[in-house]
Amino acid sequence: MTSSIIIPPSTSTVDVSIIDTTSTIHFPTSIFVAPEINGVKSQTAKSYAFLIEHKPTGRRLVFDLGVRKDYQNLAKPIYDSLIGSGVFTLDVQKNVADILTENGVELDTIDAIIWSHTHFDHVGDPSTFPSSTSLIVGPGVPASVLPAYPINPSGELLDSDFSGRPLVEIQRAQFDTTIGGYKAHDFFHDGSFYLLDVPGHSIGHMCGLARTISDGKDTFILMGADTVHHAGQLRPSHGVPLPEQIAPSPYGGSIACPGEIFEAIHPAPEKYRTSPFYRINVDENGRSVANDPVEAEHSVDHMKEFDALDNVLVAFAHDSCLEGVVETFPLKANGWKAAGWKELSRWRFLSDWKVEASH
Ligand SMILES: [Zn+2]
Repeated sequence: MTSSIIIPPSTSTVDVSIIDTTSTIHFPTSIFVAPEINGVKSQTAKSYAFLIEHKPTGRRLVFDLGVRKDYQNLAKPIYDSLIGSGVFTLDVQKNVADILTENGVELDTIDAIIWSHTHFDHVGDPSTFPSSTSLIVGPGVPASVLPAYPINPSGELLDSDFSGRPLVEIQRAQFDTTIGGYKAHDFFHDGSFYLLDVPGHSIGHMCGLARTISDGKDTFILMGADTVHHAGQLRPSHGVPLPEQIAPSPYGGSIACPGEIFEAIHPAPEKYRTSPFYRINVDENGRSVANDPVEAEHSVDHMKEFDALDNVLVAFAHDSCLEGVVETFPLKANGWKAAGWKELSRWRFLSDWKVEASH
């Protein structure tokens, strides 16, 4: 299968670090995906963010911030419905601002915070950044979230998330090119970093596409945000079929794991090698955590195509496959391909299901 994804050529790159925001989130799997597989009802995930540095201009961006450390101070409607109610259980050690400063990044060198979207596990606490750091959001976000809490008693974000700093809304017209089915905005106008309009999960949901190497065999990191919540929504696929022997084994150890042991737990056993395990959960009334579940599933389909490219590392915010494989900030992620992160992480999600090994 040849890919239809054409990324415009460029000699420009950005330096990318994957930030472990120290947020750990425990939640019922069915909030996001269906069907239930092998009795697994909950999952635990981190919330990855990214530091992006554009050397020619010296501009630095952070893409997402994880959960704010003092999450009990989230807007009351969100705290009460999602955390106080016990639906989400959180553990947060640090704000991203602390992680940056502890590692020698002065906060006044951060040009902007980009929010992939406005859910509590991504917005962090922008008030921990100086007022010179602007806040960049996707199309339609200001109209949907402002005014914020407590001015608006039902607001899902805090007034302090916005106050005293420039708010920049990427306009629809700025997504003026197309990459792999997504509309794209060339952020630095040199092909080093694109914001992608990835609709469906929430209003103004954006991903990032960073060129990590440009030597003719270019590599990219796709910051997938919440397009998917489990790697089993992306894999297996026609482009990334489940191999007969999975190495390294998702269960660890040196013995390869036979792919056929997953046939029995796959919701569509007749196509267990080429069809993902999960889809976005939509209840019988058509309700879903996704703002537009049909569009969101289209966005997942496009991401599968990126996932099938060996020069693109798809890293979504809650990708537990990455844990223990990737090197995080202050280290850089640009060398991910030579380090083999994609192959090492690809099938790790299968260990979420304790399947009786057939050997
Ligand atoms: Zn999220």
